[in-house]
Amino acid sequence: MTDSPMHVVVVIGAGPAGLFAARALAAGGARVVLLNRDIKPGGLAEYGIFLNKYRMKGGLRRQFQKILTDPLITYLGHVTISNTGDLTVGDLSTMGFDALVYAIGAQGTKYLGVDGEHLPGVFHAKDLVYHYNRLPPFSERSFPMGRRVAIVGVGNVMVDIANYCAHFADCDEIIAIARRGPFEKAYDDREFEDVEDAFDHALHREEIERIRPRILAAGQDPDELLAAVAARPEPSPRARARLRFRFLASPRRVVADGDRVVGLEIEETRLERKGDRVTAVGTGETAVVPVDTVVFAVGDRVDEDAGLPYKDGLYLTVPGTDPAAAYQVLDPAAGLAQPGVFVVGWARRASDGVVGRARLDAETGIRHVAGYLAGRPKRPREEAERAVESLRRTLAERGATVVDYPAVQRLEAAERARATADKVEEFKFRSDREMLDAIRS
Ligand SMILES: Cc1cc2nc3c(=O)[nH]c(=O)nc-3n(C[C@H](O)[C@H](O)[C@H](O)COP(=O)(O)OP(=O)(O)OC[C@H]3O[C@@H](n4cnc5c(N)ncnc54)[C@H](O)[C@@H]3O)c2cc1C
Repeated sequence: MTDSPMHVVVVIGAGPAGLFAARALAAGGARVVLLNRDIKPGGLAEYGIFLNKYRMKGGLRRQFQKILTDPLITYLGHVTISNTGDLTVGDLSTMGFDALVYAIGAQGTKYLGVDGEHLPGVFHAKDLVYHYNRLPPFSERSFPMGRRVAIVGVGNVMVDIANYCAHFADCDEIIAIARRGPFEKAYDDREFEDVEDAFDHALHREEIERIRPRILAAGQDPDELLAAVAARPEPSPRARARLRFRFLASPRRVVADGDRVVGLEIEETRLERKGDRVTAVGTGETAVVPVDTVVFAVGDRVDEDAGLPYKDGLYLTVPGTDPAAAYQVLDPAAGLAQPGVFVVGWARRASDGVVGRARLDAETGIRHVAGYLAGRPKRPREEAERAVESLRRTLAERGATVVDYPAVQRLEAAERARATADKVEEFKFRSDREMLDAIRS
């Protein structure tokens, strides 16, 4: 480690944004502490990316390992910063670090406000994704999937949920519900290949014919869609589950018999052009799609209880056209930036893109952090180390069971050993308790 004077920066959240932010800060000579809610680092790269994308996850884990073994970076996992966490945002702000970078992702749930959204049998995609990727405490809860599942939303997360329903749960029918039409789909065709074996071409053609007049009225060509289906090879072998779309359908309420979900009431929509945008407008006509499970895959919002200034699903940043402003957390009372407090990644823009995008956002943010740090005096290395130790001590005094990176490596070794013994590609302990026990033993 360098003996030159340095700044000490705390990054909160060790998902892709936090990890790449830490790397950029360390590359600039800063001493970095990375605080993370989960025991393991990686965020949604560990607990979001689909469960059998082993190569992609493995590649990212190797990149993260390199970052986490940098002597300038100290990882402290199993530490939550929030109004009810191990430390509050206010605590961190008074500890004298040179900058704080919040990279805590989008942990809040976006509710559409439809009746029945909280019934058993209705899930939000993030919770289900965390469950099947084995993130405690979601891994310890049960998410029973029925035979007929409606997934609201048509982005890449819908494709992942459909993949889970078709290949890892015992579903017969999966219906992706879209407020707009086939031309407004948000998923990538490459991602859709994972569910191609469940995609029912005949039902898709029927659906295009059903909505033909409304597509034509929006100046779109349904025959282009039919030609696209015809050009796809019929899936072989076929998955048992059938995946189809219900377009131009806006969810109105979850229909239940007692507590049991029996359907999703939708309102038919038509398309309206507003400049470049195509929007959905309700027609007043309703229908019930018979399903026994509903999954909302409509994106997330940031965690309102983290303690950062919050409005309408986002943390408040400084208004204005200065490119740095969008990364600086606002002090709403003063109408100015909170000095040295920044936000990057999905914490800045909830549910915004893939890992590469979170990385770019983090690296851009850190350029603005570097601009801020340039105006602050550096401290001798010993003093920087004392600041890191003092944070560790405070966490211990608060009773936090902090997991450092060598402990994470012991945990990963124990999980690899279990995977080998069980002859499976990957094994993950289900609860924090099991993980902590594995680390101790
Ligand atoms: C279902 C799904 C599938 C995806 N699949 C892919 C894919 O195949 N390929 C791809 O490139 N991208 C994929 N993505 C997108 C990718 O995961 C994100 O772009 C990326 O993870 C966002 O990074 P982030 O660091 O901003 O947030 P996150 O990954 O959410 O990381 C946030 C981190 O902050 C920590 N944290 C949260 N709250 C606190 C707190 N209060 N205190 C301390 N720490 C906290 C969490 O423990 C977590 O480690 C997928 C996303 C989802 C939801």
